[in-house]
This record gives sequence, C-alpha cells and structure tokens, in this order.
Amino acid sequence: MIRFDQVSKRYPNGHMGLNKLSLHIKTGEMVFITGHSGAGKSTLLKLIMCMERPSSGQVHVGGQNLAELSSDDIPYLRRQVGVVFQNHQLLFDRTVFDNVALPLIINGTPPDEIGRRVRAALDKVGLLSREALYPIALSGGEQQRVGIARAVVHKPALLLADEPTGNLDPALSAEIMGLFEDFNRVGVTVIIASHDLPLIATLDHRMLTLDQGTLLRDGDQHG
Ligand code: ADP
Ligand code: ADP
Repeated sequence: MIRFDQVSKRYPNGHMGLNKLSLHIKTGEMVFITGHSGAGKSTLLKLIMCMERPSSGQVHVGGQNLAELSSDDIPYLRRQVGVVFQNHQLLFDRTVFDNVALPLIINGTPPDEIGRRVRAALDKVGLLSREALYPIALSGGEQQRVGIARAVVHKPALLLADEPTGNLDPALSAEIMGLFEDFNRVGVTVIIASHDLPLIATLDHRMLTLDQGTLLRDGDQHG
C-alpha cells in the first residue's frame, strides 16, 4: 500500500523533515508512527497525502508513484485517503451531520446517497443520535469521533491520523484507538502518528520509531 524508497524531505529553511527513509506498509496493516517532537512523523503523513513533495527518493501509495501525479490527480489520490487531525478541525457553524457530509459534497456524491452514507459513518462511531447537534454541544471525545466519521464517510482504503488523541484523557484515548482498530478489522489500512507510548504499549500493532527523520526501530512494542 505504501512504500518509501530513500525519501528525504528538506524544507526551504534547511530543516530535514525526513532523511533517506525507506519503509513498506502493506495493505490491511495498522501501524503506529512514534518518536520525539520534530522526528518527522507529520512530514511522513504529509508526503503520503501529497501535501508536501520529497526532495529526493520515491513515495508509492496504492501502487502509484506520487512523483508521476500531476496537481490534477491529487484530488483523486485524496479521495482514497481519510485524515484525522488532533484538533479535529470541525466547522462549528454546521451541524454534526453537515460536518460529516462535507467530503461527500466535495466529491460530488449524489444527494440521495449522502444521508445514508453519513448515518452509516455516524453509526460506526456511536453518534447516530447526535446528527442534528452543533459540535459545541459535544464533549471533546465526541468531537474527535465526529472527525473520525468525517474521515471515513467516503470509505477510504487508507486512514491517516496525526496525534488523534492529543487532547483526550487516557480512557477516551483508548476508546478512539478502539475505533481505529474497528476500521482496520474491516480491511482499512491505518497509520497513526502518536507519541502516546503508554497507550500504544497496550495495543498489539507494528510500531515505527522515527528519530531525526530516520527509522530508529521497526517492530511490535515487545521486540
Ligand atoms: P513531528 O511530526 O515528528 O513532530 P515534523 O515532521 O513536524 O515532526 O518535523 C520534522 C522536522 O521538519 C523538524 O525539524 C521540523 O522543524 C521541520 N519542519 C516540519 N515542517 C516544516 C515546515 N513547514 N517548514 C520548515 N520546517 C519544517
Ligand atoms: P455500504 O457498503 O452500503 O455503503 P456501509 O457504508 O455501512 O454500507 O459499509 C459496509 C461495510 O464496509 C461495513 O461493514 C464497513 O465497516 C465496511 N468498510 C470498509 N471500508 C470502510 C471504510 N473505509 N470506512 C468505513 N467502513 C468501511
């Protein structure tokens, strides 16, 4: 599903985001990306989404060499990817339903299909009863679940999350990780950048540890 070959990312200010990173993530895997602040976790996710371009090396996503994508092809790539952010980036002047519907409206899903899709996504995150509320009426954990529903509403094959539990207490964080595991179980490839090591240690998934843009360690948390 994802292959990095000797990928370096040097930002215009000279900072190295990644330094000759090579890795392979198979379809259907669930992987944590961890490492200190500045290790390159966000850069890795941004390269997968084509929000940044590598300075050297190759990134393949779903068999596609991203260097061969023109800017016209990028929306098509993004349609196959769902993204969850730490601060969930919900629109506070729209209802839960309308927030989750946004990706479908953007990609031109027929209106009669939108309601069914949005409710299927809200059901999966346990928020079916909240569709008419505004985000301000929800708890932090519920807001993050709306963010997840929005990320999966178009049924992407790949789900990326950047510190999705950053603002949540341990119990809610574990619940959010459980939702990602649910999507992984039905075949979605899941990549989560997180420095919540105590939580990751309770979950049995591959963990890639970055340090200064290179791969320090690749394994499960036991070895
Ligand atoms: P992490 O997500 O692990 O905290 P990042 O990928 O955000 O790491 O950052 C890796 C390195 O790249 C850091 O040195 C950071 O300062 C630098 N960096 C990240 N984004 C930018 C940017 N837009 N412009 C300049 N430097 C950046
Ligand atoms: P439909 O296929 O009719 O649109 P659903 O949206 O409810 O119905 O999804 C059907 C099945 O596909 C569910 O079991 C769901 O968990 C699974 N599924 C596969 N990939 C995804 C994804 N990326 N996001 C959400 N559900 C998915």
